[in-house]
Amino acid sequence: MRGVAVVFCCLAGGIFGAVSPAIAASCPGNPNAIGTSRTITVDPSALPRIGSMQYKTTLALEDHEVAITFDDGPLPPYTNRILETLAAECVKVTYFLVGRQANAYPDLVRRIYSAGHVLGTHSQNHPLTFDQMALTRVEREVDGGIASVQTAAGDPRAVAPFFRVPGLLRSKQVESYLATKSIAVWSADEVADDWFRQVSAKDIVRKAMSRIEAKGHRGILLLHDIHPATAMALPVLLRELKAKGYRIVQAVPTGERPKMLPEPQPAMVADAAGGWPRLVTTTASAATKTPNKSDALKPKAGKSGPGNTDRTIKTARHNLRDKLARHDRGRDPVVTASISRKKQKAKTAATDAGWTLFQR
Ligand SMILES: [Zn+2]
Repeated sequence: MRGVAVVFCCLAGGIFGAVSPAIAASCPGNPNAIGTSRTITVDPSALPRIGSMQYKTTLALEDHEVAITFDDGPLPPYTNRILETLAAECVKVTYFLVGRQANAYPDLVRRIYSAGHVLGTHSQNHPLTFDQMALTRVEREVDGGIASVQTAAGDPRAVAPFFRVPGLLRSKQVESYLATKSIAVWSADEVADDWFRQVSAKDIVRKAMSRIEAKGHRGILLLHDIHPATAMALPVLLRELKAKGYRIVQAVPTGERPKMLPEPQPAMVADAAGGWPRLVTTTASAATKTPNKSDALKPKAGKSGPGNTDRTIKTARHNLRDKLARHDRGRDPVVTASISRKKQKAKTAATDAGWTLFQR
């Protein structure tokens, strides 16, 4: 989240959410842990909009109950540090992951889920223009983010129907689209300004505590697992919350979630020469249409000469890879998927200045 453009004053009414029994009475190895006292099951059809910063409805938290959420990850090493703190304190939270980050760090997505946290989504590229976008781009960002996190997790059922708009830049169009997909849109009850460049861990703890207290000693706290100050603040914040009598509550989606994720697919194997992508040839294609690597690397007559041999070979290699990729596309799903991922990565890196600025 960055720059809350519009903040609506909260109202106390409109509180929903089913309550389940306590999920962690004790924390192995840490008798002083704050733990997680219970879960609240959220059904998007009963509670489509969540968070008093922008909506009239929020989680049914009782006095001195806090639900912690993390946006924008995963991003090592900060996500890792935060996961370690949460594990040491037996705290379960809700994540809102960015699709392109999930593509880049699928192992971390799996680790988050396997540790008992909930996977919500936060768009594919984190554009800070959700309140101005055409519907087609909204659809692409929402659906793309969900698809990326599902792919990283390896099981679509692992992803909750929870979405938080980047920058909290909500619009009726976005909310309507999410409603058609039975996805709950999450705002928050409190932020701790942990996205500011100069903020210290101490400031984050102070702001989080004072704002939770000001909102009736409860609330959904929005943090970011991509910042070092947040990772440093979290152990202190959890100790402070415990010392002041707070309990942690985790919001979970309705329905069954997979207990375990499937094993990830093995990594792509490089060809004998260490090239990329993996080159796949068949007897028939090799004999007829498959381009020949050694032929392709031979400088063409009249175009090579002293001083430009290296460049010629480089160009030839580049052309060969393209040619082979085109040749094998549609036949080899591994190559096709790899090319598609690489192109998508290059495209999003080039077009999304907002995210670059955001990451700092
Ligand atoms: Zn964000």
